[in-house]
Amino acid sequence: MKIKAAVFREIDRPLSIEDVDLADPGPEEVLVKTVACGVCHSDLHTVHGGIATPRPSILGHEPAGIVLAVGSRVRNVAPGDHVIACTSMFCGACQQCVQGLPHLCTDRGACRRAETDAPRISHAGATIHQFADLAAFAEAMLLHQRAVVKIDPSIPLDRAALVGCAVTTGVGAALNTAQVTPGSSVVVFGAGGVGISVIQGARIAGARQIIAVDQLDAKLANARKFGATDVINATAGDTVKTIKKMTRGGADYAFEAVGLPKLLEQAFYCLAPRGTAVVVGAIAQGQSVSFNPAHFFQEKRVIGCLMGSNRFTVDAPRYLEFYRQGRLDLDGMVTRHEPLERVGEAFRAMEAGEVTRTVLMFD
Ligand SMILES: [Zn+2]
Ligand SMILES: [Zn+2]
Repeated sequence: MKIKAAVFREIDRPLSIEDVDLADPGPEEVLVKTVACGVCHSDLHTVHGGIATPRPSILGHEPAGIVLAVGSRVRNVAPGDHVIACTSMFCGACQQCVQGLPHLCTDRGACRRAETDAPRISHAGATIHQFADLAAFAEAMLLHQRAVVKIDPSIPLDRAALVGCAVTTGVGAALNTAQVTPGSSVVVFGAGGVGISVIQGARIAGARQIIAVDQLDAKLANARKFGATDVINATAGDTVKTIKKMTRGGADYAFEAVGLPKLLEQAFYCLAPRGTAVVVGAIAQGQSVSFNPAHFFQEKRVIGCLMGSNRFTVDAPRYLEFYRQGRLDLDGMVTRHEPLERVGEAFRAMEAGEVTRTVLMFD
C-alpha cells in the first residue's frame, strides 16, 4: 500500500514528506494504522547525526495505532485491536530474553526481514529503513508481532503513544532499573518527557522527596505538577551542594535524564552513601565521565539503563492501568498536537524547551 511518511534523507535537513510503499504483512508481521506518534529527543538527535542510522529511513518510535491486518502466524493481536509499538522488539529465544530481560535481546535481527527479502518499506524500488525497527512518522507501520502490544481500547491513543518510549523509559528507570524504594529521596536531572516520567515513576514508587533539576524555570514549575517536591535551577549556584543540603546528606537515587557527562558526575556526587546514580540519558559516543574513586568506598553505584529495563508487553498495559486510575498523568504530558507535515515545528518546539511532548496525529 502507498502511505505518506516523513523520510530522513540528509543530516540536519528537514524530513521530507513523501509517498512510500509498504509491503504486505509476512507470517509474523502486523500492519498498523498509525493514529498518534510522540516526537522524542532521540528522533532529533538522529536528524543531527548524533545517533547513527542507515538512510534513507523513517524516524518516529513512540506510536499508537489500530491493527489493520496480521500475518498467518501472529497470535498476540488481531485486526481492530488498539496497540502500542515499542522499539524493544525481542526475539523471545536468546539468553537475555529467556532470563526475563527482553529489552536486552541480543538477536533482534530474528525479527527483521532478511536482506535478501523484499524490504518492508520502499520508494521507487529502493529500500527505506525503519528507524528503531518502527518507522512511525508514517500513516501506517509494518512491524514484527513482538514490537507491538495490545492495549485497552478506551485509552486515548495520543496518551497511549507516550508509553511507547518516554514513559516506558522514565517510569521503568524508577520502577524496574533502580527499583526506587518507598520513603527514599530521588533527584532527577532534566525535566523533559523522560525526566517527567522518572519523576512520576518515583512518585508511584512512594519516594518521599523528589528533586527536579533543570535550567528552565517553566520546566521546573511543570515538574511540580507531576510530583516533584523540590526544584533546583541548575544555573543558580552549586547544584550538588544544594542537593546535599536539601536531602540532609545526599540522595538515595539520582537519575541523569539529559545525556550530559557533567550531569552524570553531579548525579554521582549528590548521592548519599550506598546511593545509586542511573544513566537514563543517552550520552554521546566518544564522551567520557570521570568519578573520584574515593567515593566508591561509600558503596555508591552507577548503573546503566536501556528503555527503562522494560518488558513492554507486561509493562505497557500496567502503566496504562496507572493512567486509568489517575496515578500516572499522561494528559499533562501531551502539550501539543500537530499533523505529520509539521514534524519540523515539533522539533523546533522541543529544542526551545516549549513542550513536554508534541504528538503527531494522523487522520
Ligand atoms: Zn524516544
Ligand atoms: Zn532475544
